Amino acid sequence: MTKKLYYENSYLTNFEAEVISCEPYKEGFTVVLNETAFYPEGGGQPADEGFINEAKVSHVFIKDEVIYHVVDQALEVGSKVEGKINFERRFDFMQQHSGEHIVSGIINAKYGYNNVGFHLSSDYMTADVDGELSEAQIKEVIQIANEAVFKNVPVKATVFENDKVKDKTYRSKIELAGKVRLVEIGDYDTCACCGTHVKNAGEIGVIECINWERHRGGMRLTLLCGKRALEDYDQRLMITREIGNTLSTKTEKILEAFMKQQEELNNLKQKVASVTNDLLIFRAQDYIAKGETCIMQEGLSGDELRKLCVLMAELGNKVYLVLTQQDGSIKYALGSSKEDVRPISKALNTVFNGRGGGKPELCQGSLVGEISAIKEFMKIY
Ligand SMILES: [Zn+2]
Repeated sequence: MTKKLYYENSYLTNFEAEVISCEPYKEGFTVVLNETAFYPEGGGQPADEGFINEAKVSHVFIKDEVIYHVVDQALEVGSKVEGKINFERRFDFMQQHSGEHIVSGIINAKYGYNNVGFHLSSDYMTADVDGELSEAQIKEVIQIANEAVFKNVPVKATVFENDKVKDKTYRSKIELAGKVRLVEIGDYDTCACCGTHVKNAGEIGVIECINWERHRGGMRLTLLCGKRALEDYDQRLMITREIGNTLSTKTEKILEAFMKQQEELNNLKQKVASVTNDLLIFRAQDYIAKGETCIMQEGLSGDELRKLCVLMAELGNKVYLVLTQQDGSIKYALGSSKEDVRPISKALNTVFNGRGGGKPELCQGSLVGEISAIKEFMKIY
């Protein structure tokens, strides 16, 4: 059984210990010490990283109360070593973990929902609760959570014998070998937890919920605390500044300017659609007047290709083939209001290595070959 120094002091970064065992493991070794400040992965919190002497600690796990450090170099059994954890990384986890407790505690007290999932990694943190919350409710919860931070309420972790917590109300009924470790954060939350926490809520800095979605009958909240929240704020500032510069607008007027631009864009789209339609009608009339039945028109979209062909078939009494180049291949629309064009489409596909088909009055597809050869082929129809 390894003595857990992180339980007594979550701020301990350097410690001395004795090597109990060192065994080969994957590409490296697992080292067991008599005591350690390295937190092993568990309770939703990732393992610590750092060094034991010169050996790099890449992972830490616990099995039957023994803590194993995964290292890249062997350490001599029986020797005294110095452990050093990456505290910047650990403190980030402490900020996130304590922040999550406050949020889950407030949701539990206010709405009776339980935390049913907790994920913490170097990139993001999510907390799942088993009930639905509205945007306004989440905002209120976050506001109260930050009050706890501003009040700098103490965070107290205490290990109790099982029978001593019978009368206590706390979240997450987990017990550790007949004992329960309770993390109390002022009046905001009491929860059984084996993770590492800050000493005072003020160290969390700020708590923010940046995303929420329905998840398994409840909600999944994506939370940011401390430095992560600050970095997120910096990034959002940069984005709004860039957009503001592009729109030549002050940050506070961005949304208004964006909505106005959207409206202008929609009006333009409608205008372009109307002009394009008029142009297609004009072209169809022009081609019919000139007696053309097989035409090549550059730059048509799939929709415009079909429209032009349908218009020509409606105006004329022959079989009409409209071609356009798209993504390096020839797209076609073949139509007639008098004749079933499907056999012609089939013949085109066979001769010009094409694909496609459709209804008796309209077929669409793609062909491979020379435009002049396709025009020549169509002369028989
Ligand atoms: Zn916890």
